[in-house]
Amino acid sequence: MTEELIAILTSISILDGLESKRYNIKVAEDQRPKAETIAKRETLSTMSAMLNTPIETAINTTKAHVKKLREMRIETVRDFLWYVPRRLENQNLVTRSEEIMLNIKNVVAGRLCDISSQPSRSGKKLYKAVLKLSDGGLIDVIWFRSPYALKNISDEQSVQLVGKIEHKYGKIQMPNPEIHIGDSVHTGDLRAMYPESPPITSKWVRQKITPLLPLCDNIPSLLPELVRTTESLYSTGVALRQLHSPKSAEAWETARKSIGFGELLELQIKVMLARHKRKKNNENKHYVPLNPAYIKEILGTLPFTLTGAQKVSLYEILKDFEGELPMRRLVQGDVGSGKTIVGFIAAKALMQSGAQACLMAPTEILAKQHYENAKKFFGEKNVALLIGSLKEKEKKEVRKKLKEGTIAFVVGTHALITESTIFNNLGLAIIDEQHRFGVKQRAALEQNDAHMLAMTATPIPRSLALTVYGEQDISVINELPPGRKPAITRIITGNDTIRKCNIFMDDQIEKGHQIFWICPLIDESEKIEAQFVHGIWQELAENIFPNRRVQLLHGRMKAEEKDKIMQDFADKKFDILVSTSVIEVGVDIPNATVMVIENAERFGLSQLHQFRGRIGRSDLQSYCFLKVGKEEQKEKARLQALERSTDGFYLSEMDMKLRGVGQLYGTKQSGLPDFLCADILDTVTIKKARDYAAEIVSSDPTLERYPELKRAVESGAVYF
Ligand code: ADP
Ligand code: MG
Repeated sequence: MTEELIAILTSISILDGLESKRYNIKVAEDQRPKAETIAKRETLSTMSAMLNTPIETAINTTKAHVKKLREMRIETVRDFLWYVPRRLENQNLVTRSEEIMLNIKNVVAGRLCDISSQPSRSGKKLYKAVLKLSDGGLIDVIWFRSPYALKNISDEQSVQLVGKIEHKYGKIQMPNPEIHIGDSVHTGDLRAMYPESPPITSKWVRQKITPLLPLCDNIPSLLPELVRTTESLYSTGVALRQLHSPKSAEAWETARKSIGFGELLELQIKVMLARHKRKKNNENKHYVPLNPAYIKEILGTLPFTLTGAQKVSLYEILKDFEGELPMRRLVQGDVGSGKTIVGFIAAKALMQSGAQACLMAPTEILAKQHYENAKKFFGEKNVALLIGSLKEKEKKEVRKKLKEGTIAFVVGTHALITESTIFNNLGLAIIDEQHRFGVKQRAALEQNDAHMLAMTATPIPRSLALTVYGEQDISVINELPPGRKPAITRIITGNDTIRKCNIFMDDQIEKGHQIFWICPLIDESEKIEAQFVHGIWQELAENIFPNRRVQLLHGRMKAEEKDKIMQDFADKKFDILVSTSVIEVGVDIPNATVMVIENAERFGLSQLHQFRGRIGRSDLQSYCFLKVGKEEQKEKARLQALERSTDGFYLSEMDMKLRGVGQLYGTKQSGLPDFLCADILDTVTIKKARDYAAEIVSSDPTLERYPELKRAVESGAVYF
């Protein structure tokens, strides 16, 4: 064992005594625990208490590291052990020139010579050295930041360097490698790689976590014995240990599978218990028998006939109104598939019973648009709008009428779920673009015994939907209204193509059509983002389309201002709308036939597909141009999926394969589980976990025989 490791171990106050025995380490006089620590240790007598120890008392580290850990929500030793690596690097030690692999990571052993520093052009210090290999080969090493370990290295000292090796300017170069001194623990064959976030690096995590790994043995296993043996999986503790410090690549894979299976099992059990509970505590208080004659009458008033998929969804909803339990249904339908009208008809059917219905939208623009449509559909006097930007007096008036029950249908934003909004008799709550709402916001509406109808354009693959929305029933609208022409989509790079494209767009404007021009969110800061969009707007208005009316819209504008601009755009008061991604959701402008997306590579496929859904909302042919930065050529392959396909389900699945679930759905807000190891596209395993969950829940509904599962299920939130 290295000196370094011993030092680390002895500095861990919670481990001394116990762990020093295990490692046979003598604790030096001055390192004996102080009275204070002993007192603390008295209370931390059990192993599980050790897992609860604040991380900063368990490891020796800097304030900056602790701060970052906090931000990453790693507060205790247990949290740290659950910081699982994402991948495994299989590294062989390079000692001779011929073993070097260019342009990928290498672990190279050699002697470090000619260490020097010099100021760089930017004024910062640049560190240089030469690594001599055993066969006399030389590698130029360069650091752009001060490598801490370099301070302790003398000339010609043996080291191991880890990093990419490049062939540049006729030389072999290694920029910014990690340095390992002596008989290092980190450069074995297999290295766990963690999600990095400075100053937390994989090297740092490996170093700090190694001495804590024995504690894994005390983590009780989530997976029941039967599941473990049948599926050949590890217990939780063994799996964690193997993840951080695997004995083989196979062991690492099994470890990931084991943790992943546990996550899926836990989720499935949660979903099943929630369903169980709902059945027990609930009854359908808004029973409405299906009345075919009335539905036919409503359909007769529409300017179009419903698509087959719309009809099926509507039927499923109407059947739910007759069911034993309040409805919990999610309608999944691609952008433009016509979800709104299905919700409206359902609401009208429900309102026969005298109950009220509401529709909650994520933005004011969208709420207003729904309100306009609702007035036409339900009749002006039956409908109200409730959004934050109304005058207090107006809001009060609407709320009064909702309480009295003189308004049957209300469209609104979050304003609908404030405490002051009280319904006389809410029978149906529709949530549009449900993925835009947080779990809490949705739950607020669920407080009522109303039927719930959620709508989303995010096409979640079936496997995932079953897992995540297991508590809701799902209707799918997988058909667009007839006559829609899919947007012709092209990736645009190079000045020549851009010029041609601009001429084409000018021609479209000449024909009386309009253009959406979308700029990416470039920073957390709205100010920088606004500057960026402003720049593009200026360029378009002054240089590229000087004879056209170009309007700017960005996130920093006031809500009323944004709404006015959208309204003006709908009224054809200008030709091009340059905006940040604020227009992503729902708004309908049928005359817009072109969409340009700047830096398309910054978006996920699903999000781009949603943008594209803003055009092609009439029988006009529409065009979507994806502009890609010069240096982002490799992103082109990913974006080509959009040229080929207009299938939202396919694109979201691609997105998840390529970028992960997090990228697709953005924040935790979406309510989707953030799995550590489970693969949500792995339908076979999901199904297996579901079967085990069913078995467990039916044989032992209170989970008495599965204390760990019980604890896990009870502690976390339900995800949908
Ligand atoms: P989304 O599913 O994206 O919310 P909307 O409900 O906004 O789509 O519908 C998009 C447009 O399609 C609206 O203008 C709507 O009136 C129209 N629409 C809906 N259903 C049909 C249909 N069956 N035939 C023709 N147009 C339809
Ligand atoms: Mg919609």
